[in-house]
Amino acid sequence: MNLYDCHLHSSLSFDSQEPMENYVKAAKAKGDKYFITTEHMDLESNFAGREDIVADFELQQKMVKDLSAKYDMEVLFGIEVGWREDIHSRNLEIVQKYPFDMVIMSVHESMEYDVAFPDFSRGRTVDDCYDEYLSLILQALQNFDDFDTLGHFDYLLRYIGHTDMANHREKLTEILSLLIAKDKCLEINTKMLHTPQAVERLEYVLQLYTSLGGNKVTIGSDAHQLKYWQSSFPLATELLKKHGIDAVYVFKGRKGHKIFI
Ligand SMILES: [Zn+2]
Ligand SMILES: [Zn+2]
Repeated sequence: MNLYDCHLHSSLSFDSQEPMENYVKAAKAKGDKYFITTEHMDLESNFAGREDIVADFELQQKMVKDLSAKYDMEVLFGIEVGWREDIHSRNLEIVQKYPFDMVIMSVHESMEYDVAFPDFSRGRTVDDCYDEYLSLILQALQNFDDFDTLGHFDYLLRYIGHTDMANHREKLTEILSLLIAKDKCLEINTKMLHTPQAVERLEYVLQLYTSLGGNKVTIGSDAHQLKYWQSSFPLATELLKKHGIDAVYVFKGRKGHKIFI
């Protein structure tokens, strides 16, 4: 069965130059029947001096429609929502305004900082910073329901380095339990899986997730360039199977469909 990439950015996102059509062409060549991009929305972003970072969703809708017809594929309409407490209502309003097929909820910022920048860590230990990051994810989960999958649980560690997930077992347990209770998916973000540290983190989280009864996952490369599309998918599949997960979810019209791997 073909695996579909459910976390992708095209040139509609501020940090990608890749035309959506290039990905669609590649997906068509691979024989895929389904394709989605999940463009950024980080409102009142600390990264952008409190300006909105938001894709042109009208244009995205039009492109999705045009590319579906041109390539005879199901090209779908996705978004990656950056959640933060003070923009909760605006996020909700936009998620409900457009007919998205899939919504990824991610945390990219604290109230004051973009977590990818050194002013977030300010010389603190990796564990202290990651603990704060997990608290932000937990807060997002406690407040926001209108999403399908939780994006990149270890996003912060891309920027500040590795730590042992065992140091964060308690908070991870809270997060994963809540995700399961809300019947949402956990995203397997493959962007960093070329590193043994990211593999170790994912294995720890998968082990914990399945031990708590979780089995719903989506898979996404978080690519911003075609060359990273579906990166490390064979490894991710192998890890999922090793932990007893035999299917991934794709979303259409906000409804999950199981694809066996
Ligand atoms: Zn993200
Ligand atoms: Zn992303």
